[in-house]
Amino acid sequence: MGSGVGHIFRLCVASLGDLFFPRFCLVCGAKLDIGERHLCPRCADDIPFTYFWGWDGNPAEQRLAEAHVEKACSLFFYRRDSDYSSLIHQFKYGGDIPLGRRLAGMLAGEMAASGRFADIDAVVPIPLHPLKKFRRGFNQSDIIARELAVALGAAFEPRLIRRRRFTRTQTRTADRRRNMAGAFAVNEKALRRLRSAGTFHILLVDDVLTTGSTIAAAASVLPSDFRLAAATLACVE
Ligand SMILES: [Zn+2]
Repeated sequence: MGSGVGHIFRLCVASLGDLFFPRFCLVCGAKLDIGERHLCPRCADDIPFTYFWGWDGNPAEQRLAEAHVEKACSLFFYRRDSDYSSLIHQFKYGGDIPLGRRLAGMLAGEMAASGRFADIDAVVPIPLHPLKKFRRGFNQSDIIARELAVALGAAFEPRLIRRRRFTRTQTRTADRRRNMAGAFAVNEKALRRLRSAGTFHILLVDDVLTTGSTIAAAASVLPSDFRLAAATLACVE
C-alpha cells in the first residue's frame, strides 16, 4: 500500500473509531478531533506548568532540602479541585500508560533543555509495594522514569531501591512521615554495581510530590556520597 493510500486508510479507520467511540478531553470534556489525544488544544495550552526546571531553589527543592536532594522539578501544579488532577488519576488508576508517557515526555524535554539535570547518571523510580504493583498492573513511577532516563541519557535503574513493607495511604502529614520511615531499603548488589560503574548522581522519580516524605524516605537509604535530584509529574501546591 502506498503511503498516500495508507494515510487515507488510517484516517478512515480513525474517523470510524471517532464515530463509534468518541473521545473527550480529560480536562474540559470537549469532544476531541481526529489526531488529538487526552487533551483538547486549549487545555493542552493551559496546563499549569511549574517551570521548576529552570528555577534554582524552587518550592520542590525547598520541600526536599532536608533529604539532601540538590535539584528537583515537577511538570505541573496539582490541585485536588482542579480539572487537571484528572490527568494523574487517568494515568495512575485508569491505567492510561500512553498518557503517562506523554506527560513524562513533556517533563523530560523541559529537564533536558534546562541543562540543570545534564549530569544525572541514573534514574531510579520510587518502587511500589509488590502487592500494590500486582493490583495496579504497573508502577507509574517506572513509566515516568524510563522516559526521563532516555531524554537525559542516563541509565534506568528500577532495582536500586526496594519497598520493605506495605504502607497504607495516609493523608495527614504526621501520619505520612511516620508511615514512610523505614519503608525502603537499598539493594546492595545494585549499589555495588553502580559504584563500580562510577554512578553517583541519582534522579529519584515519583508521580506526585506532596510533602516530600516519600522521596525523603527513599533518599535516606542511599549512601551520603551520592548526589541526589528528584522529579515528579505533579506537585501539590
Ligand atoms: Zn479541554
